Amino acid sequence: MRREEVVGNSPLSQPRCEIEKTRLGGECQRPGEVRYKGILLVCGPHAALLQLEDRAEAVLESVFRMDEWLQENGSLGADEEYLGRIRHEREEAVVALRLIRVQIRSARKEVLK
Ligand SMILES: [Zn+2]
Repeated sequence: MRREEVVGNSPLSQPRCEIEKTRLGGECQRPGEVRYKGILLVCGPHAALLQLEDRAEAVLESVFRMDEWLQENGSLGADEEYLGRIRHEREEAVVALRLIRVQIRSARKEVLK
């Protein structure tokens, strides 16, 4: 690369994606474009992946919470209608989770490009 091409667009002036500082690890050569959680600067594809991972975690968390609740209350003669609603909500969360996992898989491919 000739010198004039480097000036103004050097790797120093353009911050790099900081994905290696997350639990996803690895290094990324793409420029950082998006602030993730207001701290890390990551590239577009990594930002999308991180957001999906966070969503999957949150949904999974809610499924676990509902399972716990059902275990504690499911056999204690709790309000049937309420039980049904929780079960239904759990089903929907699982379906959503499946969808998010598909999106994560394609986001991972995007990141490796
Ligand atoms: Zn990246």
